[in-house]
Amino acid sequence: MKRSLLDILACPICKGDLDLFVEKENEEEILQGKLICKQCNIEYPIEDGIPNMLPPELR
Ligand SMILES: [Zn+2]
Repeated sequence: MKRSLLDILACPICKGDLDLFVEKENEEEILQGKLICKQCNIEYPIEDGIPNMLPPELR
């Protein structure tokens, strides 16, 4: 996912802002990492460049 996507993404549960933690990225996008909701603290993993925005109970 591109960094600019962070402006669009929100927590699917509370619609809160997300914090981005990057583990692996190239010039264009983030390949591996996670997004963490600032309000409810739920983690959404980013794998192979794709953020998994499903709530934990649906994964
Ligand atoms: Zn949330």
